[in-house]
Amino acid sequence: MKVPMLDLHAQYEALMPAIRAQLDRVFQDHHYIMGAQVKELETRMQEYLGIKHAIGCASGTDALVLAVKALGITDGDEVITTPFTFFATASSIWRNHAKPVFVDIDEDTFNLDPAKIEAAITEKTKAIMPVHLFGQCCDMEAIMKIAQKHNLKVIEDNAQGIGSTWNGKMSCSFGDIGTLSFFPSKNLGAMGDAGMCLTNDDQLAAGLRQLRVHGENPKYYHQWVGLNSRLDTLQAAVLLVKLEALAGWSEARRANAAFYDSELKGIPGLKTPHIPQQAVSIYNQYTLTTEKRDALMAHLQKKDIGCAIYYPLPLHLQECFAELGYKKGDLPVAERMANQVLSIPIYPELTVEMKQYVVASIREFFN
Ligand SMILES: *Cc1c(COP(=O)(O)O)cnc(C)c1O
Repeated sequence: MKVPMLDLHAQYEALMPAIRAQLDRVFQDHHYIMGAQVKELETRMQEYLGIKHAIGCASGTDALVLAVKALGITDGDEVITTPFTFFATASSIWRNHAKPVFVDIDEDTFNLDPAKIEAAITEKTKAIMPVHLFGQCCDMEAIMKIAQKHNLKVIEDNAQGIGSTWNGKMSCSFGDIGTLSFFPSKNLGAMGDAGMCLTNDDQLAAGLRQLRVHGENPKYYHQWVGLNSRLDTLQAAVLLVKLEALAGWSEARRANAAFYDSELKGIPGLKTPHIPQQAVSIYNQYTLTTEKRDALMAHLQKKDIGCAIYYPLPLHLQECFAELGYKKGDLPVAERMANQVLSIPIYPELTVEMKQYVVASIREFFN
């Protein structure tokens, strides 16, 4: 048997007729930039997440760059974030000439550890950027409390967590701005790059809408320098169809996780994901932890089971950030997790046989 890490073929099979019909709508009016489908998707996303404004843009990376810019964060400012995330989290800060300040993670959730944030706050700190890693919402109540106490902005990098909640409240709805990515491997993926900013603040929404079109308002008049970062009409058309399926997919991912949880429980040397009782995860990834990670990975690869390391090198140790002055040992939990994590297939279309094969192969390794 072969179990890929992700199978877009299986995901698209049933949806293709509806997607083709939506694309045909676009081909009828040839309105490729900011067509009606973009507005439609923004409205539907506002409803889905219960957030007042949705602003589509070209990628999850751009959504973060736009969010940092819209909040006026720039040269000399510091933004506290996690080192255990995809690169774009920190690069969005860097590209706005501000400084990412990395705070270590909680080893049970892989998320920014709220208890370690306050020690990193300085006079220059302007914002906190938590990441809802692997689809699990951070403890946003604790993070918002710290932000309010120190008058800091909060940007939620929710590229991996669309629809996840903390104490029943939607991710993206806690901070000043939340961001989404529709990269094809995210839970809601486009047929290419796309992203979105979410905010309940009217003024920030207006700023984001300007910044994605070169900062212009009205057309050809610029008070500030923005990006060219729109969500393609074609991608919006695809996402409108797929959004309908998202809640069901998240349920299926949770069911797969529950199966793995119970079948992999109690294996010495192997830790399954820990989801605090306040959190509902959407399992963008199902991530195991073991000291025998590299050997387990080799074993699963030999069995034709897809698996992946998210992420092998924490951001504070990346060469491009050398001038920030971090060294090995500075953020020990993130560094240890980078050596121990392994994500296994969790996508909704996994069959019972596939899941059983994954479990049997992991059990075989630990026996
Ligand atoms: C995918 C991802 C991004 C970037 O999104 P793109 O759409 O690929 O630009 C940012 N942050 C995190 C945590 C991600 O997983």
